[in-house]
Amino acid sequence: MKNNEQKVMLTGVRPSGNLTLGNYLGAIKNFVTRQTKYKSYIFIADLHAITSPRDPVELRVAVNDCIAMYLACGVDPEQTIVFRQSDVLEHGIMGFIMTFQTHMGELSRMTQFKLKSQNMGKNGIDTGLFVYPPLMSADILLYNTDMVPVGLDQQQHVELTRDLAQRFNKRYGDTFNEPDVYIAPVGNKILNLQNPTEKMNKSDGPNPGTIFLMDDLKLARKKIMSAVTDSESIVRFDEENKPGISNLISILAAITDDDIAAIERRFAGRGYGDFKRAVADAVCDLLADIQAKYQQFKNPAVLNAILANGAERARVVADETLSRARVALGLK
Ligand code: ATP
Ligand code: MG
Repeated sequence: MKNNEQKVMLTGVRPSGNLTLGNYLGAIKNFVTRQTKYKSYIFIADLHAITSPRDPVELRVAVNDCIAMYLACGVDPEQTIVFRQSDVLEHGIMGFIMTFQTHMGELSRMTQFKLKSQNMGKNGIDTGLFVYPPLMSADILLYNTDMVPVGLDQQQHVELTRDLAQRFNKRYGDTFNEPDVYIAPVGNKILNLQNPTEKMNKSDGPNPGTIFLMDDLKLARKKIMSAVTDSESIVRFDEENKPGISNLISILAAITDDDIAAIERRFAGRGYGDFKRAVADAVCDLLADIQAKYQQFKNPAVLNAILANGAERARVVADETLSRARVALGLK
């Protein structure tokens, strides 16, 4: 379906809380290092944020915070189209279309649905949680995306997107590009420091096991120094038996671009105290850099201008893809 040679990369984040170290290492960093090579799109998935009820004022603030954080993390609005999902109305219609390509069984099998629906209270499970994967497929397919850098938790949704694109193309003729997922070899699933069998989630809110990119540096250091480990005292990567230490090794490796074996060698014969201090130093250096840049970018007028420009550019492509899908379906 593609006639332009430059490959397309896209990723997004839900404005469901402050961005975490997991969001940065799993998705944003991998996007930023590749943004010059691809035609790049990054968006704030605010439609995904309302899959559960949200305070509207808080949501608007969270959207602006997320964009300022993207910029602080190195997203360059000159290179990359930065936009808010709800500004491009095509996402809603395409989400609707993709939902109808999906089987109930496929959605029930999604790990994120199974995990998150367990925590939903007595009011029942929100339909939004059930049908958000085909909306995510729409987000990806609208831009003829080739590559989606995400954390491991989202791999299944990108794979579903491929299946839906194939299904649609087979039923209605060649319409969508099939995207590949990009999962970073290290840092693709950063775990909660206090509960290193669970993923670090921004929507968990403030807690000692989650590093937020805006955490005060002293607090971030304290969180690393008090991370749960084990009694072996050997810095060795073993996710099954040493999830806490393995998580800290992954964090250090992903920040410094070192390989895991090199880190194990560097800390051979040294205790956990030394190792944790090195991880805390790397995390604090990263956070200090992002936080300094964040201060420059949090001007609402600048952010609004970036979003307006991003939406305008995104809409052109989204509209073209949606028209193609509508023609294929007999809706146009
Ligand atoms: P929520 O709790 O709202 O689901 P989240 O922290 O899981 O928040 P998302 O907005 O769902 O963040 O995902 C944004 C991107 O960050 C996705 O690409 C996701 O795979 C990635 N990501 C999220 N958490 C982690 C993590 N702990 N480690 C690595 N990547 C992560
Ligand atoms: Mg998530």
